[in-house]
Amino acid sequence: MCPLGALSQWAGKFGFKRAIPKWMKWNGWLIIMFIIVTILGQTLDVRDDPAGLAKLFLYIFALAIIIGFIYGKNKSRPWCRYFCPIGKILGVVSRLGMLDFRANKAIPKLPKDKSYYVEGRLCPTDYNLRYKTDTSNCISCGQCAYGKEKAGLGLYKRKAGTEVNNILNSQPNWSEIVFILFSPGLAAGGFLWLILNQYEQYRQMIGTWFINHNSFWIFNPAVSWLGSQTWNQHFSWLDVSFVTVYMLAYSLIIGLASILIISLATWVIQPHHSQREIYTFKNTFIALVYQNIPTATLSIVIGLCGKFFEVMHHDFGMSLDIAMWIKLLMLLASMLWTLQLTWQTVRRVNKNTLKRTISMGIVLINIGMMLYLWWPAILGHAPMSEVEQIRQHIITPG
Ligand code: SF4
Repeated sequence: MCPLGALSQWAGKFGFKRAIPKWMKWNGWLIIMFIIVTILGQTLDVRDDPAGLAKLFLYIFALAIIIGFIYGKNKSRPWCRYFCPIGKILGVVSRLGMLDFRANKAIPKLPKDKSYYVEGRLCPTDYNLRYKTDTSNCISCGQCAYGKEKAGLGLYKRKAGTEVNNILNSQPNWSEIVFILFSPGLAAGGFLWLILNQYEQYRQMIGTWFINHNSFWIFNPAVSWLGSQTWNQHFSWLDVSFVTVYMLAYSLIIGLASILIISLATWVIQPHHSQREIYTFKNTFIALVYQNIPTATLSIVIGLCGKFFEVMHHDFGMSLDIAMWIKLLMLLASMLWTLQLTWQTVRRVNKNTLKRTISMGIVLINIGMMLYLWWPAILGHAPMSEVEQIRQHIITPG
């Protein structure tokens, strides 16, 4: 059970029960929340500062309760549906999953006058249950299958990756596409700023520019609710702003490069005119992007579990080599899965072997880029900053 969703729903019992405004239904909030939480995780130093971690959780819990208090009603969970940054990751991953709450009878085509989501019914995340064809907003509460007021849904097993392979019939949406394309760069940037010498060099350049222009405010400590201020860590405004820019820059560069590469693969695999009704350029691009979910989500997992492996090494004696192999194998497995899913899509779009092969080769470039991106984080073979070299006991402070 998720404590965030539960608290938000509980707060709704006592709150204003307002109708959900249009601005809140914008799909992009989940992306914005994910970006804010990922960047705050760095500037509050949640890896090494328990107080920073507590602050971040406090912000998220407070927001979940406020949203529930104002907009929650009839066991609905507007927080989970529209804002939860963790829900965004889980929603995308659940599309790969083997379990699905699905209608017991055949799902009818959605009539033009009906909406795929409808408020105030049985489902806490507002699915119009009869027409449910995807899992991305399902929190697996089981209300529709096991509640008193059954809605005719059951829990079904399916082959892993089925929904992603059939994404054009499973409500793809632009915010998930943005998430799949841009989150690996953001997650990697959140790791690389800590270890790469490149970050230190740019930071030095910017600091020097401010000194040369007689502007020193940027070296002041940032407010403690935004940047960690502990006995060994003092984030200045320069640190907070440059970590943010650095992570966003990584996200943009990797995301845009992925768009270019996948567009090229899409262009190559374009079918004959007769088949273009389904596999238009846009639909094929969407389908190919979704097949990258395993690699994208694994990128986030590797970013998140960096501290876990550090603890396993220092406190439980796990060798660094074993930690490295586990991370590498996880990443390679996710890449193989992406390749397998992509192959299934490519096969459906075009029967021409040459076009299929070239398209797969291009997709491989995108996967290779992800491997290159995570190489320093996994293997540590990179021009590291002196601070990181001391931290990893590679050199002794002189
Ligand atoms: S399990 Fe059913 S009721 Fe619960 S969120 Fe999923 S679709 Fe909605």
